[in-house]
Amino acid sequence: MKKIAITTLGCKVNQYESAAFQTGFEAAGCVMVCAKETADIIVINTCAVTAKAGTQSRQAVRQLMRRHPDAKIVITGCYAQMEAQELLTMIDKPLCIVGNGNKDRLVQAALSDSPCDLTMLMGQISRKKEICRLPVRHFADRTRACLRVQDGCQNFCTYCIVPYTRGPSRSLPLDEVLDQAAVFASEGHKEMVVTGIHVGQYGKDLQEGSDCVELMRRLCLAHPEVRFRLSSIEPMEISDELLTLMADQKNFMPHLHIPLQSGDDTILAHMNRGYSSKEFRQTVEICRERLPEAAIGIDVLVGFPGETEQQFANTCTLLEELDCTYLHVFPYSRREGTLAATFDQQVPQAVKDERVARLRRLDAAKKEQFYTNHMGTTRPVLVEHKRDPDGRLRGFTDNYIPVSFPGPKTLMNTLTAVSLESVSATQVNGRSSDEDNAG
Ligand code: SF4
Repeated sequence: MKKIAITTLGCKVNQYESAAFQTGFEAAGCVMVCAKETADIIVINTCAVTAKAGTQSRQAVRQLMRRHPDAKIVITGCYAQMEAQELLTMIDKPLCIVGNGNKDRLVQAALSDSPCDLTMLMGQISRKKEICRLPVRHFADRTRACLRVQDGCQNFCTYCIVPYTRGPSRSLPLDEVLDQAAVFASEGHKEMVVTGIHVGQYGKDLQEGSDCVELMRRLCLAHPEVRFRLSSIEPMEISDELLTLMADQKNFMPHLHIPLQSGDDTILAHMNRGYSSKEFRQTVEICRERLPEAAIGIDVLVGFPGETEQQFANTCTLLEELDCTYLHVFPYSRREGTLAATFDQQVPQAVKDERVARLRRLDAAKKEQFYTNHMGTTRPVLVEHKRDPDGRLRGFTDNYIPVSFPGPKTLMNTLTAVSLESVSATQVNGRSSDEDNAG
């Protein structure tokens, strides 16, 4: 019986795909072990979204090879897709490298005794027309499962390497999404995060005429006992129908995660983002009006080439004025192979660090304000499998407030009503109405 260890870096789509590898290995009779134990095969699912992620991927490959000198090494993911030749040069033993477009063949290649055929397993990602079929049995130890419905992107934002590593947008047909959701529901997952690289493009490449709204509607109706959360959606893809569905459908969580990237119109144009700061503002204002209690998270990219103090100030002003819940702030990182990597006036690291710190302070203030606004209310919380470091139960409300509260183990993986009592640092303390009932 072969022992397999999988190490995953990067996004939710990678997490889903690694869960699919695990499903495939288990079906072939293999045993999963953690990377600290002895293994026959090591799979490393890499990331390349930033230069730092690329470095971490390289380090993971080196460390795991040192720790497992006799294991077969299989490398996949965005870093492998971009830098297969570099990996082959860096490592002086036979490697198996599997491109993103051939992840459905990874398990077979890993278990095969014949050497990997790099040309065959890398393929040409830009020519891929169909999404890889990667069924998953379950997400180990997780209350929440990622449901991957789409892969790839053809927006070509100038800072982003993803269209080159994952190819054009491809969607999983709706009936196959529903089949996967049924598997997760039968495995006891009570929440599914609908995930993709560019989820708003869902269905555009399919003949069946479905789209992101139809997808969410069908999922919510098929599994009324499951909470569905949308991972992220581009501002210009938030339609009136989507907001109506989110407002009306009880198990569609009131939570929007929207990439802004910059609040300055010149920078937005240089990024090729396809909207203005005014349009973004209007979108968020409509979201807030239609969904007064929703969590609205915003991605920001700080220190894009040429970003002046004034342009950064425009971003700060927009974010200060918007009624949003939290910010995910990333420093711009130069990615070889993207258009922005060729732009002049790269912003010095110290300036980027200072701008990131300023926006992270704004993020903390926004969260505190949102949490404080909800004190005294009661909201449904899905209780996670692990307690917090103080031994209390924890989970997220429907509108993504992290809550911790006392209670018995029997509440884990159930939905419980929690009254929100006080705000402490990055979370809220609460009390469950089921606290005493469940032994
Ligand atoms: S929309 Fe832009 S940032 Fe997002 S994956 Fe596509 S190219 Fe990258």
